Amino acid sequence: MPASLSSNRLRLCGALVATLCAGAAWADASRDDTGSGPIALVIHGGAGVIERDALSADDEREIRAALDQALDAGQGILGAGGSALDAVEATVRVLEESPRFNAGHGAVFNADGGHELDASVMEGHTRRAGAVAGVTTVRNPVRLARRVMDASPHVMLIGDGAERFADAHDDLERVPNAWFGTPQRREQLDRARAREAAQRQARHGRDADAPDAYFGTVGAVALDRDGRIAAATSTGGMTNKRYGRVGDAPIIGAGTWADAGCGVSATGWGEFFIRNAVAHDICARVAYRGDSLQTAADEVVMRVIPEHGGDGGVIALDAQGHLALPFNTSGMYRGWLAPDGSRGTAIFADE
Ligand code: ASP
Repeated sequence: MPASLSSNRLRLCGALVATLCAGAAWADASRDDTGSGPIALVIHGGAGVIERDALSADDEREIRAALDQALDAGQGILGAGGSALDAVEATVRVLEESPRFNAGHGAVFNADGGHELDASVMEGHTRRAGAVAGVTTVRNPVRLARRVMDASPHVMLIGDGAERFADAHDDLERVPNAWFGTPQRREQLDRARAREAAQRQARHGRDADAPDAYFGTVGAVALDRDGRIAAATSTGGMTNKRYGRVGDAPIIGAGTWADAGCGVSATGWGEFFIRNAVAHDICARVAYRGDSLQTAADEVVMRVIPEHGGDGGVIALDAQGHLALPFNTSGMYRGWLAPDGSRGTAIFADE
């Protein structure tokens, strides 16, 4: 792993140097409270084992189209002077609607053959946040997370309580739990169960290291014309999860964080992101140590997480419009809109 990590890192920075790693190009795209500052958006559709050979041309096209559609949604709002908060909610909602990602329709199956969804949203300049975990019937968990933030005095609601809160909001669409599943996710569960049965004798616990145990979580971080940052993340969690397991995605500071200067949305093996307070750690390094966004994100994703045995990636941006999208897996579905208006999507480490 370490060798591939460093080469991944080099490849990532090499390939994206013109748009993502050369932050100096945007160094003068400074915060502007008059509503005419630069806009930026980064999105992810999950990190994990994503091999070129295993992804058909059709699949790749559809995934890139879904990422583009999500970028369109966020860009439309930001371009019209809308808020970063509205942009990340709308962007993540598009990704939740796509069966290609592990969030909303297309969420992974838990060990009981059902779906439990987690999501969160955070607004940087106010430090307001909302999150839900273990939701089973709300079509767009990111909308429910936003509602928790806007219409309750709480930050996180879980399970039945979150569902009851949703009951009080007619505009939050409900669906049968089975709506979230797809045949591909069912196959993933079947594979995970078979693998686990085979491994039960030899080792304990760690079915999560299976190649398709996760990936496909979605997230977005946006910078609006007023220089305000927001972040959102949504997921079905990890295939075959048990006991009401909750990952990092709905945990403020782990899978999602935004403050006045920096925002992060994460994807990967959630337990490691929780233990290392990944999203907050990246922004804290920027705020307290003066690290550049790229340095902070690289350090946490390429060194801290793997040193502890985890893997995954993040998308991040700062108030100057610098973007960073490091990951230590073979791929991460991702997209970006830079302050200079350039846009792109990518999947593999070498692009
Ligand atoms: N981080 C998510 C979780 O642990 C999974 C993922 O990103 O794919 O629930």
